[in-house]
Amino acid sequence: MATVVGAAVLVSSFGLYQWQRYQEELTQAERSLRSTASLLAEHTARTFEVAKAVLRVVVNLHDEAAEQGYDRHTVHGFLKTVHGGSPVFKAIGWVDATGNRTASSLFADPPPLNVADQEQFRVHRDGTAAADQVYVPAPVFSNLLNAKILSVSMRLNDRGRGFGGIAGGVVDPDYFTGVFRGVETRPSDVMTLFRRDGMILARQPTDDALLGTSLAGRRFMTEIVASAPTGAFHAWGLSDGAERIIGYATVPGSGFIVTVASTYRELFAEFWRSFAFASGHLGLALFALVAGAWSLIRQTRRRDQLAADLRRSEARFRDLAESSSDWFWETDDQNRFIWLSASVEQASGVSPEWHYGKSRIDFSDQPQSVPGAWDNHLRCIEERRPFQDFEYLRRGPNDDRWIRTSGVPVFDETGRYRGYRGSGRDVTELRRAEERLRDAVESIPGGFLMFNPDGRLAYVNANSAKYVPEMAAMDRIGDTFEEILRRTLAERLIHDAHDDPEAWLAWRLERHRAANGSTLVHYEKRVVEVVEHPTREGGVIVLRFDVTERERAQEATLAAREAADNANRAKSEFLASMSHELRTPLNAVIGFGQLLQMPRGNALSQSQQEYCRHIVSSGQHLLALVDDVLDLAGIEAGQLKLSTERMAVADTLSGAVESIGAVAAKAGIAVELSLETTVSDVRADSQRLRQVLLNLLSNAIKYNRPGGSVSVSAREIEGTRVRILVADTGRGIPEDRASEIFTPFQRLGAEFTTIEGTGIGLSVCKLLVEAMDGRIGFESEPGRGSTFWIDLPVETAAALPEAAASAGSGTTINAPLANAGGYSLLYVEDNPLNLRLVEYLVETLPDVTMHSAASGQVGLELARAHRPDVIVLDLNLPEMNGFEILEQLRMHPDTKDIPVLALTASVMPNEVNDGLAAGFFRYLGKPINFDQFLAAIDAALRTRPVKPPEGGYQAAS
Ligand code: ADP
Repeated sequence: MATVVGAAVLVSSFGLYQWQRYQEELTQAERSLRSTASLLAEHTARTFEVAKAVLRVVVNLHDEAAEQGYDRHTVHGFLKTVHGGSPVFKAIGWVDATGNRTASSLFADPPPLNVADQEQFRVHRDGTAAADQVYVPAPVFSNLLNAKILSVSMRLNDRGRGFGGIAGGVVDPDYFTGVFRGVETRPSDVMTLFRRDGMILARQPTDDALLGTSLAGRRFMTEIVASAPTGAFHAWGLSDGAERIIGYATVPGSGFIVTVASTYRELFAEFWRSFAFASGHLGLALFALVAGAWSLIRQTRRRDQLAADLRRSEARFRDLAESSSDWFWETDDQNRFIWLSASVEQASGVSPEWHYGKSRIDFSDQPQSVPGAWDNHLRCIEERRPFQDFEYLRRGPNDDRWIRTSGVPVFDETGRYRGYRGSGRDVTELRRAEERLRDAVESIPGGFLMFNPDGRLAYVNANSAKYVPEMAAMDRIGDTFEEILRRTLAERLIHDAHDDPEAWLAWRLERHRAANGSTLVHYEKRVVEVVEHPTREGGVIVLRFDVTERERAQEATLAAREAADNANRAKSEFLASMSHELRTPLNAVIGFGQLLQMPRGNALSQSQQEYCRHIVSSGQHLLALVDDVLDLAGIEAGQLKLSTERMAVADTLSGAVESIGAVAAKAGIAVELSLETTVSDVRADSQRLRQVLLNLLSNAIKYNRPGGSVSVSAREIEGTRVRILVADTGRGIPEDRASEIFTPFQRLGAEFTTIEGTGIGLSVCKLLVEAMDGRIGFESEPGRGSTFWIDLPVETAAALPEAAASAGSGTTINAPLANAGGYSLLYVEDNPLNLRLVEYLVETLPDVTMHSAASGQVGLELARAHRPDVIVLDLNLPEMNGFEILEQLRMHPDTKDIPVLALTASVMPNEVNDGLAAGFFRYLGKPINFDQFLAAIDAALRTRPVKPPEGGYQAAS
């Protein structure tokens, strides 16, 4: 609306202004044309005065010529002179009273011309024109000049007789043009000379058609004639129809009128140009106005929208401010708080109002702050700079809190400082946590260094210098790890780096970059373990511990272990050779003793049989002792190799009870087995478990009372273990010695009795049970009996298929050999006693022929020659040992399939394993266990194809 009004006002005032300007221009033009006309009128008047003066001279000459009687030539001469002195006329002369031309300045003898019918002649003759006046008639066409000419005339008197003709002159058109041109005009101006009756006498530009025509009766003519000597009016051009303004003026003396007419176009050209220009500006102004209005409307709309946005955004920020654990604040130019968001109360326990009118420094505890921090802060504010994360202790009405704050200066539109605004946060807890962390870090008994993500040292604890003094002067805050290292190397502090510092540096930097483990660094005087750990934001924590003592201890331990290992190895070797050396003679003692006992043709006497039994049992006792000692020594030396498997407890117990049956019976002790049916299978090494059980059972029998009993049972405990109990009714174990029972060679007084024993059995049991993940223990009531128990883990894995479970067992003699037809056995042995013993044993097998060889070489030859069904090898042979013979046998096609048994005194567990791994069919120890030996021979022969009977197939076919 305002725009429309504005536009209307603008347009109308522009129009009014231009109208006024136009009026002024018009008035100005009229005035100027009027004055031009006046000027022209004066010029014209002068011309006519000149013409009048010349005509008077002509009239006088006419009178003089008549008086003096001048001839034609004289008159012509005079006239020519007058004419020559007057530029106004083209020609002068006179006509007589009848109208005939009688004198001319152009001709001495003028051609005949009568003007009696012409206007000027009539006017003068009839006395209409005043006698002494110049009369100007309408222009007439002149044949001579071939144009309309303007003439002037004056009456002649014929010496008292009245009218004597007229003197006249033809006005030179060029002269008149010159007069007209004498005034300053515009190119299209038209200047006209009228008589008062409206007759056009002259015109510039010349137009013959108009000259002589009368404008009498035209309204403007009447007005001109009626009005004052000068004026102006508007009319349409006679010749071109263009609209003009015409200025006019009366020519003094003659009463003629001159007009000067200018076209509007020319007069107002300048005006219209400026009008167009102004209009252009007006257009621009209007456009600007409309555009301004349009943009104003848009701005208004935008402003409304902005206001709405602002309200929303204010609400948003208010919500944020109120819900944040931070708060926002504003100060005035004196740095006094003038506003805080309400969240300050929740976050730091003090209301916003409490702050108002105070400045930060008013309620802070400066001495508590970090040195210099306050000065920095105040300088910052002084210089109107933003500040960030400034921390100070605020002394509140209730307690002191650590505040962290950031702010920016605020300036108004004129650039005047208005205060600060920013945010605050209560960091008391954070600082306390930091302090705790710092305390923790400071209490580390070693160096703690923190490198920032930019690789520079940010923190080092005080203990660092205490525990690794070499580095005290090296660790400088702000330095990179490499800078610190280089400094350390320059001081030659690191022993490790002496040989090639650059290589060590590269290696160390690489480890630091990886930051995922510990590195040992040897200084000259100490060993330091450096643990590096990456921080979340990409820095590295470096911990340094002096581990000199530990390293030394470790070195000592290593050395001790090495010594122990060496000793152990020596011990093992000693045991192995002892075992071998003891078993070989025992083999003979027990073997031959047993042979003697065998029912043969030449029976021994009673007492000889008695001696024989003593020999065998003492030999066996000795063998048991050797076995026990070796076992214990072997286990203690870590040579125990268990192969645990699923075992049914009932089967194991009944097997053990059965084995011990004969011994129990002999001692007169009843052994009773009671089993719960639901006992789970256990996981154990079958041989070793059997060994343990037999040991416990044998003790229970040995240390029982005459007629006593042993009861064996098993039950599950806690669902994860099976407890096997062996209870006896014996003498019990004295309480004060109970702790020694599992100690090797401790017999708790039994050594003074006749009960055979070594004091090793239980020690071995304990080691074995524990090696099987079990436990062993006992309860005893002296005089009433003891109960020994072992716990074994329940087998949790699924049961194996039966075929697999039973494989590899078999120490009992199976059914007699299926093939009764001639088998042959080759025994390679250098010890004649052993050879003899085996010979006797093989003799008990009806269909087996035995060959023997005392050396490997002979053995191989025999093997190839006879291709025996089974070969028994002593391992410890001169020249070629058993392993080498086995290898040779395996290489020869004739002998490669023959089962080969090892029979040896080398029975240390590793030796047994090596033997089986080499491919022996069985690995048998010495002294020979007859049952075992015969069972092995039997198993070997069963692998052989059935032999044809002597000469069988050939004869039949
Ligand atoms: P050994 O039986 O060869 O002496 P052990 O290691 O088997 O050695 O036993 C150590 C000692 O513990 C025995 O000498 C004996 O004094 C005592 N002992 C073992 N079992 C029993 C038992 N069932 N009743 C009483 N004493 C026992």
